[in-house]
Amino acid sequence: MSAYCQKCGAENIDNAKFCKSCGAALYFEAEQKNGTENRTSKSSTMQTVKKVLLWIVVLISLISAFVLFYSIQEQKKMGS
Ligand SMILES: [Zn+2]
Repeated sequence: MSAYCQKCGAENIDNAKFCKSCGAALYFEAEQKNGTENRTSKSSTMQTVKKVLLWIVVLISLISAFVLFYSIQEQKKMGS
């Protein structure tokens, strides 16, 4: 099996990354890159969602801790 350059049509060996004739990246390499980019963008979106969720959880726990602390202070004031 051999790979043909999309730019100049030169025949290259199957696992060649670049055309031996014109130096262009071979088509199957470009397809692989596109697939990787799609996966990377999807996973980065997931990472952003996870970060946002983490911040929401942190904010909720901070607010609830503050509310709990404030209510305890109010109860102490009422007691004394
Ligand atoms: Zn070429």
